[in-house]
Amino acid sequence: MSVKTSKQPWPSDALMVVASLEGQERREHMESVVPAACRDCGAALAADSFTIRTAWNLPVRRGRPVKFFCMACAHGYDMRSIDQLHDHSVGGFGRKTHSAAVQCQLFNERFPIGSEVRYWLGAREGPGREGKTRSEAFVLGNGSPCVFLAGIAGCVALSHVEPVIEG
Ligand SMILES: [Zn+2]
Repeated sequence: MSVKTSKQPWPSDALMVVASLEGQERREHMESVVPAACRDCGAALAADSFTIRTAWNLPVRRGRPVKFFCMACAHGYDMRSIDQLHDHSVGGFGRKTHSAAVQCQLFNERFPIGSEVRYWLGAREGPGREGKTRSEAFVLGNGSPCVFLAGIAGCVALSHVEPVIEG
């Protein structure tokens, strides 16, 4: 899949964490709030200590620093050029640090209908099953971000769907 874009490639010199602007974070979903600054615009951000620790411990970090983007600056980059999107529990860049709507938006920007995914119908254990999306991600009435998958009747929560990243 090659999609033409005018956006810059996603930075590869650091492991980037996209964080909420300070004051807009959803603290009820965060382990603890760590002050951070957007690498590009310097905006004050509220990062989740869980996300930072997870990022720091990722093998893909390969000794690179962990840096931060605000949402606006992140959107100036081509998310399709991310070498590995670590999607450990929601369709975004961290654990529930984004609203359900933003999680869906991030998922949909990167993974069009028909994208290959792994999914888990019960507990998220083992390698899961392989499938494809048959809808865009959307917010269910109960507030959960979810997506329809081919061959599955009900929608599946994004927390149990992990896109298969090529390469
Ligand atoms: Zn910024």
